Amino acid sequence: MKEKLHNIKTRAERDVLEVVDSSRLKDVQVKYLGKKGEITQVLRSMGSLSKEERPIMGNLANQLKVEINSLIENRKLELAQKEKAAQWETEKIDVTLPGSMPLIGQNHPLTLVMEEIKEIFLGMGFTIAHGPEIETDFYNFEALNMPKEHPARDMQDSFYISEEIVLRTHTSPVQIRTMEKVAPEVPLRIIAPGRVYRRDDDATHSPMFHQVEGLAVDKDISMGDLKGTLLLFARQMFGKELKIRLRPSFFPFTEPSAEVDISCVICQGKGCRVCSHSGWLEVLGAGMIHPKVLEISGYDPEEVTGYAFGMGVERIAMLKYGFDDLRLFFSNDLRMLRQF
Ligand SMILES: [Zn+2]
Repeated sequence: MKEKLHNIKTRAERDVLEVVDSSRLKDVQVKYLGKKGEITQVLRSMGSLSKEERPIMGNLANQLKVEINSLIENRKLELAQKEKAAQWETEKIDVTLPGSMPLIGQNHPLTLVMEEIKEIFLGMGFTIAHGPEIETDFYNFEALNMPKEHPARDMQDSFYISEEIVLRTHTSPVQIRTMEKVAPEVPLRIIAPGRVYRRDDDATHSPMFHQVEGLAVDKDISMGDLKGTLLLFARQMFGKELKIRLRPSFFPFTEPSAEVDISCVICQGKGCRVCSHSGWLEVLGAGMIHPKVLEISGYDPEEVTGYAFGMGVERIAMLKYGFDDLRLFFSNDLRMLRQF
């Protein structure tokens, strides 16, 4: 039996060394130490030995069991190291491979249109003014000739923060804030671009949208100056052949007031679905600054006059790019945004 054990040891040592793939070590383990393994069988056959021999051989067999086990464990570590080294070898970074391009951002169509509007007015000598988006009731309504209870307030469904504080419903409060600062000095020519807020949400309205306000105050400013400025703007924005027309309208802060239409940019005035077959598209509101508004801002309405206009940037962008749903601007859909 001693010889048998010696024989098992020799073969086990050879078998372990011959294994080159660590997953194969399991087979060797089963072969010698498994339930039907050679050592296990030797241990089971102890019954056939004499009383004296039994503990000696049992001891030897158990020792061999431990030895083979540690042989396998050592071989396992050895192979694991080799396999790791081989893996490093094959996974070396190939610096000559082309890299993946990082996603590059670009300007939003509204930003592009806003920039274009600014460029046009800066070219005509206007400067840019800003004001807060959270406004007081005074600047948003009262100073613009809309006292509390004025029915015109209903035209602008507002987000009130408190009775006196409101998210500005238009960029017009910037008029007052700017005039207050410089009055009674003239001339004054500004545009005020920015975000405004109203409780509207459908295909042509969003609770947050953008306006550009324009304002000029000087001696002898007339409605003709207003029309000329807007015609120049519209032609630079939409094309040289474009016509504009002014229709009488009402705003509490201008007198007289006008809605300004441009000839349809889709059908060139012939009539189509977009312009409801009228040939005209409404793009902005304008008028001569109301004497009360001039006065509240520190000007003498007997000395100076001025005009003001306000346009929706989304409206201009929709016409320029042919959008029929304003909500597309805010949907963050890269398929749309990538086209600009
Ligand atoms: Zn049309």
